[in-house]
Amino acid sequence: MTDFGKNDAQSNRDTWRPATRMVHSGTSRSQFGETSEAMYLTQGFVYESAEAAEARFKGEDDGFIYSRYANPTVDMFEKRMCALEGAEDARATASGMAAVSAALLCQLNAGDHVVAARALFGSCRWVVETLMPKYGVETTLIDGTDLDNWQQAVKPNTKLFFLESPTNPTLEVIDIAGVATIAHAIGARVVVDNVFATPLYQKPLELGADVVVYSATKHIDGQGRCLGGVVLSSKEWIDENLHDYFRHTGPSLSPFNAWTLLKGLETLPLRVKQQTQNAGVIADFLADQASVSRVIYPGRADHPQADVVRRQMAAGSTLIAFDIAGDKKAAFDFTNALQVVKISNNLGDAKSLITHPATTTHKNLSDEARAELGIADSTVRLSAGLEDVEDLIADIEQALAAVGRSRRAA
Ligand SMILES: *Cc1c(COP(=O)(O)O)cnc(C)c1O
Repeated sequence: MTDFGKNDAQSNRDTWRPATRMVHSGTSRSQFGETSEAMYLTQGFVYESAEAAEARFKGEDDGFIYSRYANPTVDMFEKRMCALEGAEDARATASGMAAVSAALLCQLNAGDHVVAARALFGSCRWVVETLMPKYGVETTLIDGTDLDNWQQAVKPNTKLFFLESPTNPTLEVIDIAGVATIAHAIGARVVVDNVFATPLYQKPLELGADVVVYSATKHIDGQGRCLGGVVLSSKEWIDENLHDYFRHTGPSLSPFNAWTLLKGLETLPLRVKQQTQNAGVIADFLADQASVSRVIYPGRADHPQADVVRRQMAAGSTLIAFDIAGDKKAAFDFTNALQVVKISNNLGDAKSLITHPATTTHKNLSDEARAELGIADSTVRLSAGLEDVEDLIADIEQALAAVGRSRRAA
C-alpha cells in the first residue's frame, strides 16, 4: 500500500462506522471523478522522463512502478481493508493461501519454531506441517482451545504462534488475547486467520494479535466470483517482514479481482449480518431435531467455548457444523436431498452451501487427526447464505425427513 495523496480526504476519517467505511474508505478518483472505483488493468506505468523513472525507483517519488509491487485499484482495496480492520498497512494477495503463506514464511528463518493450533484449514495445515519443515522450520501442532497447551509447546526458538478461530470445520473458538499474552511474554508473534469470524465480528489486532490474514474469496467477495486474500498488520511489521518478500515472490492480486472485492466490501456488512441471522435461526432449528445428534454454533449458549465467544466475538458466525444422527450414509442422504442448499466446499457465499468435511476438505487427514478435530463421518458444515430463512428451514426439514425415509426403507 502506498500513499499517493490523491485519496478522498474524507476516506481516512476514523469516526466512520464500518458500513460507511466499506462504501467510501480508500477511494482514489481519477481526473474524471468516476462514482465507482476505477479498474486499472495495467501491468506497468510510464514515466515522463528517464529522471522521473530514476526518482521513482530511488523512492524519492511514491508513484506506481509495477503492478507486482502495487496497483491503484489494488491499493484502494488494501486501504479499505485497513479502514475496516483498524490496521496501519496491508498487502492484498491472489488468494487466501497466498496471504497465509506470505504472512508466515516472510518472518521465519531456518531453525525457528512455530506453534499452531491443529484445527486449521487443510492447506494451512499443509504449509505448517509439511512445507515449513522442508525449510528447517520446526512446528508443533496443539489443541489450541486450552491455553496451557500453548505455554507447554514453547521452546527457546519459538518465534511464531498461528491460529484460526472459529476453526474449520468444527468451529472451535480460541482465546486470542490469552494466546497473545503467552506469545508476547517470550517475544513471539501471533498470526490469526480470521476468515470464519469475518472482519466485522472479531478484531484480532485489538485482541493482541500481530498479523491478521483473510481469504477474501469467502465473505469479502461473498458472491462466488473470484479468489483473493489480504495480510494486515502494523506498518513497521510490513516494512520489515513482508515488503521485500511480497515484491520479489509475486503473490499479488489482479486489479480486476481487487475491483470485484471492493464491490464486495460495499455490501459486506449487510450480507454478513443477514447470513449470521439466518445461521442462528438454522442452528436453533437443528438443535431441536431428534435426527440431528450434535450442533456446533458459536452464537449458541451451548457452544463449548461460549464464554470466549462472548469475550471476543461481536456475533456468532455464518457457519454451522452438525452431525446427522447415523453415519456417513445419513450425512450423504441428507446432503443429496437438499434442494436450495448447494453442495460446495466454498463458504461465506450468498448461496447456502454444504460440505461433508471427512470426504472433501479434510480427507487428507488421518482417521486419528479427524477424530481429534471432532470431524465424524456424520458431520456436515453448512454456510448460511442470503436466501429467505424460511425456505432454508423448509429445505433442511424435508432433507431430514428424506434421511428418515431412507433409514426406514433399509
Ligand atoms: C478458504 C480459506 C483459506 C484459503 O483461502 P483461498 O482463498 O481458498 O486460498 C484459508 N483459511 C481459511 C480459514 C479458509 O476458509
